[in-house]
Amino acid sequence: RTAQEALERLIVDVPDWPEPGVTFKDITPVLADHHAFSAIITALAAAGKDDHGNVVVDKVVGMEARGFILAAPVALALGVGFVPIRKAGKLPRETHAVTYTLEYGEATLEVHRDGIAPGERVLMIDDVLATGGTVVATRQLIEACGGTATSCSVLLELGFLEPRAVTGDLPIASLLTV
Ligand code: IMP
Repeated sequence: RTAQEALERLIVDVPDWPEPGVTFKDITPVLADHHAFSAIITALAAAGKDDHGNVVVDKVVGMEARGFILAAPVALALGVGFVPIRKAGKLPRETHAVTYTLEYGEATLEVHRDGIAPGERVLMIDDVLATGGTVVATRQLIEACGGTATSCSVLLELGFLEPRAVTGDLPIASLLTV
């Protein structure tokens, strides 16, 4: 609740950015407010625990770039490791890669092959869930490593883009949906 109120108060709508007709949701004011930042990290981390408060994931992944800022403290809060999901060409060792379609063109995401061990349960963290393409691609990377994508947690879900039409059976916890 506190986290949701903080997001409603602090996320800034930026009209016509990065291109005309698109309204960008800027979450940086949430990060700049210590109490809000702390509240959202606690709320995001809840997706990695069961009803008794037991940690039920082995790794937390964050999607470049804003996902990193959120996933790293979530991993520390849960007491598990953090693994970065990066854009093409950034990771130095052997990777799995998934290319997916964007509104205009395509994008490739990568993970180190040994970043997630077979059988590990993985929580995905990002700032905004829009079309769902990033989450679907990240799930494929986790599964390519032999892991299980158990859940996804985001600050903001753009419900009008209907991301759940593509994310299937994946449990998603959104702190705020617009
Ligand atoms: P999707 O793949 O269409 O779901 O887009 C989600 C990805 O794009 C996430 O990694 C977000 O960081 C980014 N994104 C899309 N729209 C916004 C926005 O309005 N604000 C911040 N990030 C966004």
